[in-house]
Amino acid sequence: MEPSASLTLFNSLTRRTEPFQPVHAGEARVYTCGPTVYNYPHIGNMRAYVFADVLGRALSFKGYRLTHVINITDVGHLTDDADDGEDKMERMAAAQKQSIWDIAEHYKQAYWADVRALNIRQPAQWTVATDYVPQMIAFAEGIAEKHCYELDSGLYFDVSTVADYGRLARAHTDDGEGRIEAVEGKRNAADFAIWRKTPAGETRQMEWDSPWGKGAPGWHLECSVMSGAVLGFPFDIHTGGIDHREIHHPNEIAQNQAHCCTNGLDDAANSGARIWMHNNFLVERSGKMSKSSGEFLRLQLLIDKGYHPLAYRLLCLQAHYRSELEFSWEGLGAALTRLKRLVMVVEQLKARIPPRHGEGDHPQGGGGAPSENPEAETQRLAEPAPPPPAVVPLPVPGRNFAPYLERFDAAVSDDLNTAIALTVLEEVAAIKKVDPAEKLAALDAMDAVLGLNLLNLTRADLRLRPKSAEITEAEIEATLAARKEARAAKDFARSDALRDELAARGVEVMDGDPLGWEWKLG
Ligand code: AMP
Ligand code: ZN
Repeated sequence: MEPSASLTLFNSLTRRTEPFQPVHAGEARVYTCGPTVYNYPHIGNMRAYVFADVLGRALSFKGYRLTHVINITDVGHLTDDADDGEDKMERMAAAQKQSIWDIAEHYKQAYWADVRALNIRQPAQWTVATDYVPQMIAFAEGIAEKHCYELDSGLYFDVSTVADYGRLARAHTDDGEGRIEAVEGKRNAADFAIWRKTPAGETRQMEWDSPWGKGAPGWHLECSVMSGAVLGFPFDIHTGGIDHREIHHPNEIAQNQAHCCTNGLDDAANSGARIWMHNNFLVERSGKMSKSSGEFLRLQLLIDKGYHPLAYRLLCLQAHYRSELEFSWEGLGAALTRLKRLVMVVEQLKARIPPRHGEGDHPQGGGGAPSENPEAETQRLAEPAPPPPAVVPLPVPGRNFAPYLERFDAAVSDDLNTAIALTVLEEVAAIKKVDPAEKLAALDAMDAVLGLNLLNLTRADLRLRPKSAEITEAEIEATLAARKEARAAKDFARSDALRDELAARGVEVMDGDPLGWEWKLG
């Protein structure tokens, strides 16, 4: 079945849901603001990339040829999104007494490890900001005369030189409603640096020569340049977290208007991208989302506690990307159970399909726990994609499933309603007495959008060992086998004692669990 519903997406620029009309027929070009690699990403950051990934998968599902670009910011992002504070990278390098290049490399690898663990597809290109500095200087030179002015600290963009500045944010930039004027001499509070000069007498670890002296590009300039260089203006969709709607993206838009010599934003294409999309935040009440707090919520923390990373992906899919999502361990546990049920169904279906060539090979990259060594992860990232796993060749989903696929398509096409799409997938999982291969094919077609890796995951993959657990799986299995023997011999005292022994070591025995889960490490 070909997806036939028309894809509509919410455009933050118009604050309306609009039909997707590609700039280039049959294609979709998407740019996602990537991480600033000065620290590990927290799971809220990763929500932004799960969202962008689902968008990309939905566009592929709808038949568009996707070109997705995600950038890596390794210079220029200040501790305040407006022009205040220090460069995040420089500050971390000083704190850790390491070179910025090493810091950038380390955290880029850590981010990529999370990307893999969440089954986020590789974009067509990762653009790294420091690879584009000559293009950034050329872009700045092109707009400097009409739109910029120079101060001792750098080259500034005058936001009054473009029409509709701040429309994306619905911001007021005068009457004190704009941002605090942190830099003396700025013409408007919202003006921002597109080139930051190295202060006299100082040397920065990362600096380049420019017509305005030695210095470094501004963060907003980077994304304008990289998106335009790789995708061409105008491209289709620009994504980021909702905080970017307030400062970063309005500033990118202003630069793009200046660069493209266009003005008003009534034609959305004048902003550089036709559609600007923003995911809402993942929130956590106790403040553990802050990268500055000691043990903040990294994906690795979830894994260490025994939650498979794809349970977090499922948690994200349960909410609409434009809604705030509150994180809780209970919620994550419930998402893991939901994932286990789906994986169990798929395992049972696979067992019912007669073996064919290649079946039984354990597929590569099956979505198990990521390696703790980010280097190893990246080596795999850099390699060409392995051939698709040799599982059972699936037929096209049969006619039995067409109504479900239609509803799934309608949900996805309705501004990426993954919460509904997921329930349709679960309905299919629950259908009885149908051809298992066709049912598997239907689940596979839907999972191509949701990205839960359902056809490759096994229940064993989902049973992650909490880092704090001291008992090994082999010990648990041996004790459970002894308990089984005791029960068979009706020696219930011994059976109970063995159960208590396991409980004392953090193992909960789950007799009669509907998912067939015999034990769980707490
Ligand atoms: P940064 O590395 O700080 O530039 O952030 C990377 C991405 O994560 C950006 O798109 C942010 O808008 C997004 N982001 C930051 N915090 C959260 C959060 N709590 N929930 C969802 N997205 C977030
Ligand atoms: Zn950006």
